[in-house]
Amino acid sequence: MAEKFCNFVNGEWVGADGKATFGSINPADTRDVIGEFASSQVEDVRKAIRAAHDALQGWKSLSGWARGEFLRKAADILESRLEEVAQAMVRENGKTIGEAKGETARGVALLRFYAAEGVRSRGEVIPSTNPRTFVYTTRAPLGVVSVITPWNFPIAIPIWKIAPALVYGNTVVFKPASITPHCGVLVTRVLEQAGIPRGVFNLVTGGGRAVGEELVRDDRVHGVTFTGSNTVGRQIASWAAERGVKFQLEMGGKNPIIALPDCDLEQATTLTLRGAFGYAGQKCTATSRAIIHTSIYEAFSRKLVEKCKALKIGAGKDESTLMPPVVSDEQHKSILDAIRKGREKGKLLCGGGVPEGEAFKHGYFIEPTIFGDVPPGSYLAQEEIFGPVLALMQARDFDDAIRLANDTRYGLSASIFTRDLNAVQDFAERIEAGVVKVNSETAGIEPQVPFGGMKESSSHSREQGRAALEFFTSVKSVYMDRAGQ
Ligand code: NDP
Repeated sequence: MAEKFCNFVNGEWVGADGKATFGSINPADTRDVIGEFASSQVEDVRKAIRAAHDALQGWKSLSGWARGEFLRKAADILESRLEEVAQAMVRENGKTIGEAKGETARGVALLRFYAAEGVRSRGEVIPSTNPRTFVYTTRAPLGVVSVITPWNFPIAIPIWKIAPALVYGNTVVFKPASITPHCGVLVTRVLEQAGIPRGVFNLVTGGGRAVGEELVRDDRVHGVTFTGSNTVGRQIASWAAERGVKFQLEMGGKNPIIALPDCDLEQATTLTLRGAFGYAGQKCTATSRAIIHTSIYEAFSRKLVEKCKALKIGAGKDESTLMPPVVSDEQHKSILDAIRKGREKGKLLCGGGVPEGEAFKHGYFIEPTIFGDVPPGSYLAQEEIFGPVLALMQARDFDDAIRLANDTRYGLSASIFTRDLNAVQDFAERIEAGVVKVNSETAGIEPQVPFGGMKESSSHSREQGRAALEFFTSVKSVYMDRAGQ
């Protein structure tokens, strides 16, 4: 019998109104069922929003320090349960144990960072034109915030949204991705154990199509933070805009590396490989295009393919795995379909199929796949695949490389491999990406640094670090004059 998990509403674990549930399974072995989760409907969401709304006044009237204390406790609890949470994440999401531990540790760091936000400055004193007037700015919370998250970082993404929302005085309704609801439950248990007051934080599991609209359209919701696909993001934006509600979207990427002739070939190929195939290419910042100067194209691609063939594919729980399974049957099918489309225009250099053998029989495994000489306008060069597929392209010179790198609707992350400082400076200036790396993987970000994309990758606000203050609060400008003067 699979374990049953409930919603967390107004400080209590409660089933959804209807009795329907949905299951979550292990992508490395689909016979392993993790549990059954509440398949919530609109009425369940309304209850959670009501609880968050009722708790708002009490929560926002606490000092920032007092709110931060709950996050500090949550950080200690998560740290003490790091191993257990990481193992559970590997089981539900498939990622490697190293990545899962790193992600949980990032969750701890995020909770500590935002705990301290409770006592950091949030405004400024602005000299008035009137010498007797004192003018300052302060920040007010938005109110009830809906948090809608994807499956690929099922612990860190929720925390990097929930922690700032809470510390700045908002209350939260959280809906995790239906592929990783157990990770959502684990985040919730940490906050529950930290003693978060009733109604301040609520969890609702269930299909985005069934409950997503209510999470944005309910009159009591005043902020929506979302990470996921562009299709859903655009829909959320239009609902939120109709109500004039603040929204934040982080979405897809088609992240390039540029390799110039003077790069360190060993470093560039190793980091390109890691960026493309680590976590089976399911990071929004994964490398999906390698734009290589013609003079080193042959040597670069040969080395890359050699290394790719040596990559260890396997279950995430095995410490030596680099390429775990992809997360779901749907992802598996859509990536293999993209590979089929890729074969029409690109030259398949390695991979392209499903690995054979007993170890792979019950999981969603795909071989790391590289296509060479990919034409700029083609499917492989333009569409986000969100899997272990890398497109190689040739650039005549630096300008051509920048043109190719920017030739996409996305603008999340990009990297250049070179020793030429002038090229580095030009790259940082001209590349259309919110995260710019030099001699480094396109993936990999730090929690105290602003994160987000340009172009269609984002709604242009930034998450993490102090940048979160901009989204989760509104500025108030206060003019103070003396009474009777
Ligand atoms: P989806 O957009 O399908 O889902 C994201 C979240 O939105 C899930 O919780 C989902 O619920 C929910 N949702 C689905 N439909 C609706 C709806 N109609 N209204 C409101 N919410 C809804 O994306 P995936 O989870 O499949 O994630 C993969 C995508 O996310 C990729 O394209 C990737 O690029 C992007 N991504 C971007 C990141 C970034 O920081 N830029 C980071 C991670 C992923 P449910 O699961 O129940 O369907």
